[in-house]
Amino acid sequence: MTLAEAVASVTLPVTTKVFTESGGLHTVELPCLLEQIQDAVVSSGKDSAGGGGGATTGSVLNSAAFDEATYIRRVIGSWRTDLGLKRIPELVQALNDWHMVFTRTSGDHDLFIREIQSWAVKIKQILDPPKRLEIVGPCPTCNESHYLNGEGEWVPNPVVIEYPHDMADLKEARGYCRSQECDEVWEGATTFIWLRSLLGK
Ligand SMILES: [Zn+2]
Repeated sequence: MTLAEAVASVTLPVTTKVFTESGGLHTVELPCLLEQIQDAVVSSGKDSAGGGGGATTGSVLNSAAFDEATYIRRVIGSWRTDLGLKRIPELVQALNDWHMVFTRTSGDHDLFIREIQSWAVKIKQILDPPKRLEIVGPCPTCNESHYLNGEGEWVPNPVVIEYPHDMADLKEARGYCRSQECDEVWEGATTFIWLRSLLGK
């Protein structure tokens, strides 16, 4: 990966595939990773859509996103300072200007490429934890319709499927039964064939 590619990987919009509960696969375009992490710092309350309205809906601080955005801002700030540029709060512009000036110098790129790649990995971890889908009904292996949860309550639907937000690799999908006596695990593409057969009923 070149430095230009590393910069692009966090400053250009992200195209991703999302799996819907009905079994469809959609392609969506999201803001770039640096914008996503900045936007995730404060996620507004449930009814944020409407304008007006006086009472605040209680914004929630995502502390992992806040820490990461703050860290990245500080690192880019020090890179900019080294080149005689002022620090600015907006991450995309801060990185892009720095990159433009830096490419005119003879500095070694490797350290910067590695650092920017590490941001991309971290941001994806913070913003895209695996999606979970609860399968309604009993487990096809043990036939249990309920399982004992962490609070000691019997709750329905023991089978869960987890899959990555980015569906590029179906092998990362994983299904499992939460019934203690069962512990069945399904992995990879077979999980999806099985899931479809359940949803198709
Ligand atoms: Zn089971």
